[in-house]
Amino acid sequence: MARTIFSEEHEQFREQVKRFFERELVPHYRDWEKTGVTPREFWRKAGEAGILGTMIPAEYGGGGGDFLHACVVTEEMVKVGANLGLAVHSDMVSPYLMHYGSESLKRHLLPRLCRGEIVGSIGMTEPGTGSDLKNIRTNAVRDGDHWVINGQKVWITNGVNCGVVLVACKTDPAAGSKGVSLIAVEEGTPGFTKVGPMDKIGLKAQDTAELFFDNVRVPIGNLVGEEGRGFVYLMQQLPQERMVIGMRSCAILEAELERTLTYVKERKVFGNPIFNFQNSKFKLAEAKAYITMLRAFIDGCIEEHVNGGISSEKAAMAKLVGTELMNRYLDDFLQLHGGYGYSNEYGIGRAWVDARVSRIAGGTSEVLKDIISRNL
Ligand SMILES: Cc1cc2nc3c(=O)[nH]c(=O)nc-3n(C[C@H](O)[C@H](O)[C@H](O)COP(=O)(O)OP(=O)(O)OC[C@H]3O[C@@H](n4cnc5c(N)ncnc54)[C@H](O)[C@@H]3O)c2cc1C
Repeated sequence: MARTIFSEEHEQFREQVKRFFERELVPHYRDWEKTGVTPREFWRKAGEAGILGTMIPAEYGGGGGDFLHACVVTEEMVKVGANLGLAVHSDMVSPYLMHYGSESLKRHLLPRLCRGEIVGSIGMTEPGTGSDLKNIRTNAVRDGDHWVINGQKVWITNGVNCGVVLVACKTDPAAGSKGVSLIAVEEGTPGFTKVGPMDKIGLKAQDTAELFFDNVRVPIGNLVGEEGRGFVYLMQQLPQERMVIGMRSCAILEAELERTLTYVKERKVFGNPIFNFQNSKFKLAEAKAYITMLRAFIDGCIEEHVNGGISSEKAAMAKLVGTELMNRYLDDFLQLHGGYGYSNEYGIGRAWVDARVSRIAGGTSEVLKDIISRNL
């Protein structure tokens, strides 16, 4: 099915992104998986190549593009079998600053984020709370011209490298969700420490850290938007973040289906290509049918999002269906590879283990069903 959502300009950008990943990512990815961190040098190169902050206006150092440019970057990244925290940096952290940050905060941080000089993270999850965000305990207390932050965050993507983290803090602990604010904390601020990379089962090249805040003093100007509006901002941006995960899942499925087809047509068992077994054909035909339907839904959602914003319900559906189908069919694809599916030699093993977190991070499947059920 031909895709119709991208313009010629997006497709030209795609070629540029593809070449960049082939040159700067593919040859090094296995090494980064061993160290558990994406090197800062890569971020700088991605910035130079115009791959970061594609949706941020040019006057703040970004690409001046739209959500489709962001889709192109993610799609091309997963096509080469990689999973880095680029979307957190470009499609989460930068948009929060762009939409809600003061002019001086934007001018201070966005050009450096877009150039890849600093890496961005968002810190919501804590050891004691993930899904139930309004119960965070990290707090920020006003002291003259500063906020003083105390608390801890966990599972923070890009956390080891982060030059700036947007920290969800309680600025009014008695006010529930209305007491949550977002505050930017920069690397090097006294009392701010990182511990990582965390020992994960997958996403090995994507650095993930625990962040600690011990009487961290930041200027009041580091508040992102208004005090007490952090929860609202997070809820406003979550649909886009969930769309990114749904879109990424679909692109991974398409890429891994193609790779699996090549494998099963080449490898012979009992004198025949694996593809010739009826079981293989049925598995792959079913996957093809579901992936084709997923693609139609995801592209429809992307279009809707570009033309004015997608509802939280529909974005929840895109993430739920995309990630559940991805986990189901990657398991089938791995099975068709036999023992080689379990090796690091073929990308399917990595894709399978990397996929598991997608049903958890960015809103668990159960939380997404809860959101969808509210409109039933
Ligand atoms: C690799 C990775 C990267 C991450 N990156 C980031 C990041 O950059 N920034 C960040 O802030 N966080 C990040 N996270 C954290 C992630 O968003 C949380 O793990 C997720 O929100 C779930 O929270 P939790 O782990 O505390 O699980 P819990 O909230 O404790 O959930 C445990 C179980 O309870 C279920 N449950 C919870 N609520 C309900 C409900 N209402 N109904 C039914 N079941 C429910 C859940 O579905 C789940 O099965 C990351 C996590 C991972 C693993």
